[in-house]
Amino acid sequence: MKDIKVYTLKNNNGTEVNISNYGGIIQKFIVNGIDIVTGKDNIEDYKNGSAYMGALIGRVGNRIGEGKFSLNGKDYQIAINNGPNTNHGGLEGFDKKIWDVEEVSPNSLTLSYVSEDGEENFPGELKTTATYILDDDNRLILNFKATSDADTPINLTGHSYFNLNGEGDIKNHKLKIHSDSITESDENLLPTGNIISVINTPLDFTEYKIIEEALNATDDINIKNANGLDHNYVVEDNGLIKELVNLEGDNLILTVYSDQPGVQVYTGNFLDEEGKEGAYYNSYDAVAIEPQNWPDAINNSNFPNSVLKPGQEYNKTIIYEVKAK
Ligand code: BGC
Repeated sequence: MKDIKVYTLKNNNGTEVNISNYGGIIQKFIVNGIDIVTGKDNIEDYKNGSAYMGALIGRVGNRIGEGKFSLNGKDYQIAINNGPNTNHGGLEGFDKKIWDVEEVSPNSLTLSYVSEDGEENFPGELKTTATYILDDDNRLILNFKATSDADTPINLTGHSYFNLNGEGDIKNHKLKIHSDSITESDENLLPTGNIISVINTPLDFTEYKIIEEALNATDDINIKNANGLDHNYVVEDNGLIKELVNLEGDNLILTVYSDQPGVQVYTGNFLDEEGKEGAYYNSYDAVAIEPQNWPDAINNSNFPNSVLKPGQEYNKTIIYEVKAK
């Protein structure tokens, strides 16, 4: 059994990030004295959690319709764990693996994980590294690299939930999403294959507005299906790192950048569990911002490619930047 440890990254502004090699979990992210992520006191407490709090998600983040896909003429079945579909990699995703520690410095950590051929029924041995760097501009940079010895679907992301006030709910946080459309989804949040505009709908966050405005729109079919926001916003797939989301609390602003073609924004619609330092997390107490490929991309030929081939390198970056207002 590999050791489970927690590593603390620090920068010159007093910002601290605690990361465990269990699931690559970001357990604490403290800026100006405020811990802006949800989490648990002990790593043990994450083992039974179902919210993927702070964890790395893989091999395939988000949904796979009925857990089925075909690749190179072969059919694959991944375990169903979310209504009729697979979510976040099957029964035991990368969030519940003990990662190896490759490199540690005062402001960086590199973890690696080898997902065996056939793990959760996915094809190919996938070698993954996740590197976290905390810089002096209060940016936490998370870079994923992966290679595979056979064609495999892949969709890696980070699943931190943010509350920039460190307590209470996020209903009054202001949100801006640099996207005017989502992948339409059904009542189980599986994409229908259509891309729909959000302009002038409750999901329109092209200009800053408070999250509660969307949550209150309970007659809207998209809000109703998800019990809040839980949607993949579509951004240009040009391989460049760009600004995706801004989130404003009382004193802090989080900006999330990535080169991923989408970002799932999930307002913690079903949170109901104990947290750090006596906290209890209820629905809408935090928002997960997950830059990633589009859900069920493996089953939608009009979605960005999600297949990694031998000889190719998967290389994706997420940046969480936190500034005082
Ligand atoms: C999904 C939600 C899900 C949550 C926790 C999010 O990434 O989009 O539907 O409830 O993760 O599993």
